[in-house]
Amino acid sequence: MTSFDSGAILGRLEELRSADAPTHGGRVLSYVYDSGRPELDELAAQAMRLVQPVNGLDPTTFTSVAVMERELVGFARDLLHGDDEVVGSVTSGGTESCLLAVKTARDVWRAAGGSGTPRLLAPVTVHAAFQKAAALFDLALDLVPVDATTGRVDASALISRIGADVALVVVSAPSYPYATLDPVGEVAAACAQAGVACHVDGCIGGWILPFWTDADGAPLPGWDFRVPGVTSLSADLHKYGYAPKGSSVLLQRDRDRQRRQYFATTGWPGYPVVNSTLLGSKSAGALAASWAIVQALGTTGFAELAESCRRATRGLQDILGDIEGLRVVGEPTGPLLAVAADDAVPADRRVDPHYWADRVRRRGWVLQLQPGLEQTDGTRLPRTTHLTITPVTEARIDELEAALRGAADEARGVPPVDGNAVLASLPSELVAGLTSGATLDSATAAHILAAIGLAGGSTPGLPDDQAPLLALVEALPLPLTERLLTELLARAVEPPVRPDSAPRFAAPTGE
Ligand SMILES: *Cc1c(COP(=O)(O)O)cnc(C)c1O
Repeated sequence: MTSFDSGAILGRLEELRSADAPTHGGRVLSYVYDSGRPELDELAAQAMRLVQPVNGLDPTTFTSVAVMERELVGFARDLLHGDDEVVGSVTSGGTESCLLAVKTARDVWRAAGGSGTPRLLAPVTVHAAFQKAAALFDLALDLVPVDATTGRVDASALISRIGADVALVVVSAPSYPYATLDPVGEVAAACAQAGVACHVDGCIGGWILPFWTDADGAPLPGWDFRVPGVTSLSADLHKYGYAPKGSSVLLQRDRDRQRRQYFATTGWPGYPVVNSTLLGSKSAGALAASWAIVQALGTTGFAELAESCRRATRGLQDILGDIEGLRVVGEPTGPLLAVAADDAVPADRRVDPHYWADRVRRRGWVLQLQPGLEQTDGTRLPRTTHLTITPVTEARIDELEAALRGAADEARGVPPVDGNAVLASLPSELVAGLTSGATLDSATAAHILAAIGLAGGSTPGLPDDQAPLLALVEALPLPLTERLLTELLARAVEPPVRPDSAPRFAAPTGE
């Protein structure tokens, strides 16, 4: 039997992990959701370990999977005020929940006689997972512009676009880019009247908005299953359910429509396949971890953590509102914020949110840069910087405040990075290729990345200063940026190129 040195293997992994952004302690204000309670992480780890060898593919063979999933769906349904007609599944994450909501709606639409390409209608702030769903399941995206200052969609503008070819309308509770709570009540009512499905994307809000109030302490307008026209709702356990990655709940109203989420076939010579989600064989790890965390916290525990996030978010809103040159976009609902330059002050007092984010990063806090975007009506959404607030933010808010204010003082009056200037600084033959919009092959794309200074390193990683990169993203045509970023990420996982002389395969040892 081959022996191995687990100490050395894990030692290498620990070394690799030490280069990661910190997952705990609140220094990274996106991607990670630290409850601040290490005993919850430990409980989750033990639960994952217990189901490590289980195959979640078949809950009739591994019955623990069915029990945990049923109990989680039940908890989520109560939390989100679904009645007995609301059923659901645990999926591998927000994207999978969104994909399945779209796939279900498309198949319901087809079954009702729809033919051709159906439309997916949503505010432009809807999560990119729905763009992915439209691409994968062949729907036409119809993205409604939002107010360029507040980030809010006008309900009637969205409702006026509902038609017989719409398979699904998606609203968010709240949206990721600006934390806007979409007008769920109005939109869902119009959907119900038109017989169109309405999904509420509660991926980020689903496990925390039930405990949230508006700025005056009043309950939020309805956004869950209490709103009659809502046909499905996604809520990620790996966000404010504080579970390890790989866990989300998709709830659907009406058994008959939910059954169209499933794929089943007995038309092959192997075992009968019945899948509620996109994967076949799958881990039960994140499911078990989520299940354990939900038992541990219960609604009281979730409410306490939400309350801490709410206090920290309010505090940060006040701090940001007090920093000259910056503004919080719109009226955020939930523990996330977007910050833009305040156009109400003279240019020499303004703070570019991306340049600012880079300065904040030098002080040890990682914020998330969001590019500006031109909408179909010609208006331009500003570039912003995103902050996701978690229960560990509150205890460190003074430290964070000092970084936010100090960075703003450095950034105030510094003109925003001009993407076109970045472009102009590149070799001219390259710029010609870039702006021609020609389809790039992999080698050319890599060449361009190298010229921008973004390729070639052995460890993939973005530069510390991201403002120039984002400015380029804004300046280049979208398909081109998408192609370049694909190349960047694809190259990051390519094994190193062998020298020409090296053998293609390792020679057998011992001659
Ligand atoms: C995170 C998120 C998603 C996608 O979820 P993943 O878990 O990253 O796949 C969808 N919608 C919203 C609003 C989100 O915040």
